[in-house]
Amino acid sequence: MSGDEYCRRTAITRLSVSPTDESLLRETISEWKEGCQIASDKAWECCHSKSDVQQLAYDDIREQTTLGSQHAILACHQAADNIKSCISCRRDGRKAGKPTYTSPTITYDSRTMTVFPEKEAVSLTTHGNHSRVRADLVLPDDDDGYQHQYVSSEAWESTQSTLHYRNGEWYLHLGFRKHRPHADKTETTENGTVLGVDLGVNEIAVTSTARFFSAGQLNHDRREFKRVRTDLQEHGSRNAHRTLESMRGRETEYVTHVLHAVANGILQEALNYDCDGIVFEELDGIRRRLPNAAWHSKWAFDRLYQYVQYKAESEGLFVDTTSPKNTSKRCAECGFVHGANRPSRDRFDCQNCETRNHADYNAAKNVAEMYLRREQQSSCRRGVSQYALKSGTVSPDQGFTPYPAESTDKPSPQQSQRA
Ligand SMILES: [Zn+2]
Repeated sequence: MSGDEYCRRTAITRLSVSPTDESLLRETISEWKEGCQIASDKAWECCHSKSDVQQLAYDDIREQTTLGSQHAILACHQAADNIKSCISCRRDGRKAGKPTYTSPTITYDSRTMTVFPEKEAVSLTTHGNHSRVRADLVLPDDDDGYQHQYVSSEAWESTQSTLHYRNGEWYLHLGFRKHRPHADKTETTENGTVLGVDLGVNEIAVTSTARFFSAGQLNHDRREFKRVRTDLQEHGSRNAHRTLESMRGRETEYVTHVLHAVANGILQEALNYDCDGIVFEELDGIRRRLPNAAWHSKWAFDRLYQYVQYKAESEGLFVDTTSPKNTSKRCAECGFVHGANRPSRDRFDCQNCETRNHADYNAAKNVAEMYLRREQQSSCRRGVSQYALKSGTVSPDQGFTPYPAESTDKPSPQQSQRA
């Protein structure tokens, strides 16, 4: 979801895969991981452009794995992307070791995957000399499936996608894109508004309008689940095993429920403040920032993002991400960037202008601000120029504008949910 000439969307769907095809796909994934690793090992500390990595590693991948030619190329590109993000991490002073490939996921593109919209199915290339695997998309009913608008649309073309194997299920993250309409200044609104959102540990989400979604209850309940699980594991009886399985299901269901509620709250906040879009930091950045805690796995944040995305789209709002660079260390008031601005996880004390704020609230404003700045430089703009606060809007150029005093409907935020 970068600021390129395309609008990009991801539609996540479960896949129905036959047992035979399933083992073929799992083998393909394992070859893929091997291929990415070969490319990454060869190119690390050496090169990172897609073409250079491809030149360096392609032959080795073809010799040492059973990946087909296109997947060997995609594996080189994957490694190139990962090495590139390691380099940018290091540039920002973060540690980043050589990429390793352990998660059960594989990339597909238009040469390795075909989508059949009318049949709601895909065919996927596998490794070796095996033929393609055909699988049905398990889409929700038309009414509540945001996926349909992409899968069955002429306007959206399918692009790079990823296949994931998780908890015994197959998921396809189908990538779609279409040309972004070139914003003609005479035609489009140039003063659209975004809502900035920061995601984190103690607060699941905080908006630039100062709405807090606390993680207190969720963190507490997850610890409870874990305690009971540990007890059961120590028992080890068959009965305990069965209870354990069903508990895992209940826990997932519970977390999903909480994430839906937070997504609804974020959307409501955006609607209350007449926003045109909702902006998060890139999910990779969140994972780097919060590597160790329990519930905010890749899974939880991906889910939350997806929920917001499809709920927002049905209301005509866009959802986008921006680079997380410095969002936690930068003062949203004066722009001063320093590690000392952040004396603890929750506190933000600007060393320059002495502004004091909740650190996540400060970060939510930065997410919006960084996004707007990037938008200004992009050639295909969305026409947004300001972000919403509780009391007014802020534009990177013009600063703060309070909401009109007579306006009774616009700033009508719900009570913020501080825990
Ligand atoms: Zn400051």
